[in-house]
Amino acid sequence: MIKVCKFGGTSMADGITALRVKRILEADPARRYVVVSAPGKRYSGDIKITDLLLETAQEVKEGGHVGDAYAKVAARFRSLVKELSLGFEIEPLLEETARQIEQERSADFCASRGEYLSGRIMAALLGVPFIDAKDVIKFEGGHLDGEKSYSLVREALKGKRRAVVAGFYGEDERGHVKTFPRGGSDITGAVVARAVGADEYENWTDVSGFLACDPRIVPGAVGIDKLSYKELRELSYMGANVLHAEAVYPVREANIPIRILNTFRPQDAGTRIVSTEHFRPDGRTVTGIAGKKDFTVIFIEKAQMNEMSGFALRPLEVLKRHDISFEHMPSGIDTLSFVIDSNQLKGGVLAEVLAEIEACVAPDKMNVIENIALIAVVGHGMNRNVGTAARLFRAIARAGVNVRLIDQGSSELNIIVGVDNENYERSIKAVYDEFFGPDAA
Ligand code: ASP
Repeated sequence: MIKVCKFGGTSMADGITALRVKRILEADPARRYVVVSAPGKRYSGDIKITDLLLETAQEVKEGGHVGDAYAKVAARFRSLVKELSLGFEIEPLLEETARQIEQERSADFCASRGEYLSGRIMAALLGVPFIDAKDVIKFEGGHLDGEKSYSLVREALKGKRRAVVAGFYGEDERGHVKTFPRGGSDITGAVVARAVGADEYENWTDVSGFLACDPRIVPGAVGIDKLSYKELRELSYMGANVLHAEAVYPVREANIPIRILNTFRPQDAGTRIVSTEHFRPDGRTVTGIAGKKDFTVIFIEKAQMNEMSGFALRPLEVLKRHDISFEHMPSGIDTLSFVIDSNQLKGGVLAEVLAEIEACVAPDKMNVIENIALIAVVGHGMNRNVGTAARLFRAIARAGVNVRLIDQGSSELNIIVGVDNENYERSIKAVYDEFFGPDAA
């Protein structure tokens, strides 16, 4: 039995939490390979090491040398080593790192040093080998080269019973350090799990798994004990950010279950994420609710649109020219609409897009609705329970909210509802009550 365990920034924040990590690893001999993040916040208002390193990169860019931000990074690592009473020589490593940062002058290299140093320290604490992610995680054309990385990780871990791998970064085809997007140590963990054919990928964080909805909107929202990869994808994409959305792919292909666990409450069962084929919804209609604010809907109407072949291509080309991606494209016989993240339409872009669509399809009518929030109601259980949509819309209507848009994914795994931004929280509460409240079936 092999488990790969990834520990997030709060799990590595100080000596006490790092010792918790050690105890968790020692509690189960299957927990053999460990991926760590850089130390995160110790308390609210604290600054993550990665953020300090990004500040350091800016300092080096402007003045050529590391400055105050790096001094804070060094102090954090110094005290981490001290709290752990490690006989580990951190000073030369911190000096060498500063020199390398000044030489490399790359924000990615600089940001990656948090995971590098954190990995070195964790390996020393556990007394196991350290694997530099630069040697095993490879990027090609800006993206993870999965096959190459799996085989290099496998090779590096061959014959090692236990090891620590630094999260978040790797090396590109030109030999430069490159980082994943923020939160990307989750992806490193998934790559390592896939490479060694793990029986489970444990992702240790500071919450006990996914909740049925955002607890800032519904305090005390229930936990989700089981999710399918597909449900996870829908929920993470719509803002449930417990696990990086891209971490799913490496493990999904190999059917490796993921478990989200809490370093600060290791006794909690957490959330288990399993393959869609093996998923049984356990009688629940809805698995989870997620959502995001600030979308814009462009609505186009043209009589007999259904008879014009290639009609939709023209507005799509306008979007492509502006490098705009859309989230949803609900359509009717004579109507077509695009739901777009409003950030992409700022600074006059919306007006340009509208003028170009007008010029290329001469619509009978074109409307723009701004400040729309999308709510995704997700669950495999929805397609086998009659009346789910009716319950959903009744709940929103009871809350006095007008639904501005509806889109049901063709997989019947989700229903997306658009409401005005100002009605977002109220709608989520109403939907949660309907499907998870005391009277819910
Ligand atoms: N340390 C990086 C970040 O703060 C990566 C990670 O923690 O996964 O985004």
